Amino acid sequence: MNNNRRQLLASACALALLSPLGARAADKVNVTASFSILGDLVRVVGGPRVALTTLVGPDQDAHGFEPQAAHAKALLQSQLLVTNGLDFEHWIHKLAKAAGFKGKTLVASKGIKPLQVGRQTDPHAWQNPQNVMVYVQNIADSLGQLDPAGAETYQANAKAYIQELVALDLWAQEQLAPIPATKRKVICSHDAFGYLGAYYKITFLAPQGVSTEAEPSARQVALLIRQIKREKIKAVFVENMADPKLLAQLSQDAGVSIGADLYSDALSGPDKPGATYLQMMRHNVTQLAAGMRLN
Ligand SMILES: [Zn+2]
Repeated sequence: MNNNRRQLLASACALALLSPLGARAADKVNVTASFSILGDLVRVVGGPRVALTTLVGPDQDAHGFEPQAAHAKALLQSQLLVTNGLDFEHWIHKLAKAAGFKGKTLVASKGIKPLQVGRQTDPHAWQNPQNVMVYVQNIADSLGQLDPAGAETYQANAKAYIQELVALDLWAQEQLAPIPATKRKVICSHDAFGYLGAYYKITFLAPQGVSTEAEPSARQVALLIRQIKREKIKAVFVENMADPKLLAQLSQDAGVSIGADLYSDALSGPDKPGATYLQMMRHNVTQLAAGMRLN
């Protein structure tokens, strides 16, 4: 071994000892995101400095998720856990405890104004791009605290992405602007689009509440079918991560056909049109506008 190489190794060891991140400091920041949409945001902000694990993957339902031993193991190796909060992942505390997780936790929705649906908080805040600007800034701040050497990079990545969110928002407003108020009604399986609806002025009607874990009563379904018929609603959609059976029955009973999949609580796989947050939002808005035009 030559002197240069020996010196290099020695300084690498010293760095590892001094760093609060231990031996992994020279490598990557290990982050776990609770579900696919947050995973995409962490990937955008963190870039190659971050090694990312996502617990609930594409097309999977985070509401009724049941973590396995492998999820606990992945979490234990992470320095940061990024969650949505707003009681979306109510299994996360149990998982963190079971795993003996000692890292930091970021609630990415910190600072947004939550919507209430009855007595429940609506967790689906990412459906409004304005809220995602807050998520992304929170992620950049949190990563910068863990990895100060990357802080500037994280801030720059967040800033660039927020510009893309601004463009997305303007584009969505343009797409929806021609649709008259009387036609702005959509049926989907669970109440996942409250934030999108409140922001873009669309009424979403769903047999299931803000969680897929709640089963709708026969009476709720019958009332919704009456409303679909009375108001001649044709915009009916299923969600990629929800059980389509309920909506298939409902659309049959109401005599309406179902539109394309919407991406509500999960991204799609890489071969489908909702593989990133930006793609998923553009797909959803395009489909919603097309569906509402039929109303
Ligand atoms: Zn949901």
